Amino acid sequence: MTSAQATCLADALEAGYGILARGDPAQSAVKCTIGLLEQSGLFKLDRHRYTGVPHRLAYDQILTKQKCSTTKRHGTVGAVALDRFGTVAAGASTGGIESMLPGRVGDSPLIGCGVYADNQSGAVSMTGIGEGIIRLVIAKSICDRLGMGKSPAVAARQVLRMLEPRINGSAGALVLSPDGRFAIKHVTPHMAAGWWNGTGSPTVRGEFP
Ligand code: ASP
Repeated sequence: MTSAQATCLADALEAGYGILARGDPAQSAVKCTIGLLEQSGLFKLDRHRYTGVPHRLAYDQILTKQKCSTTKRHGTVGAVALDRFGTVAAGASTGGIESMLPGRVGDSPLIGCGVYADNQSGAVSMTGIGEGIIRLVIAKSICDRLGMGKSPAVAARQVLRMLEPRINGSAGALVLSPDGRFAIKHVTPHMAAGWWNGTGSPTVRGEFP
């Protein structure tokens, strides 16, 4: 390696490292480093060798891949519950979606988006593409409708219906009111879910029309 190449390589790596240190995605750091090396004209780079660089998909492509089913993702587990004292609770655990950028925060840990519970309105747990769920603050929006007297089925349907036309989103919801009424609704072809009312066997299905 010539000294010009060595200097150029050090500069390019330092620039990439600076991007990582700022907390930006690793892909941006790699792109920057490779870009600087290419611009220098001092290196012959074979793009086919960069197979380790994650391929970035457009949001629409990700949506199309994810939209087929809420069950094909990485192990979403959500639940809503009501105890004998009238206390409601909601929870969600997720592996996220495909093609996530490092550092992405989905809807599941965001109160009001992926989960919400309030004894005066109800409990909601969401699954689906977090970007859309966050933008419409879905869990809280459904609970607000429960608080205004809508049934879980109507509240869920009204809010989920806005997702597709407004932001091309896709999701499903578990909805429970403090008086024990319950609905599972989704705007995806499938959603594996079930319920149990405390006696007998639980019911589990893949679709909730
Ligand atoms: N809502 C999750 C996310 O976007 C995915 C899921 O578990 O349904 O991260």
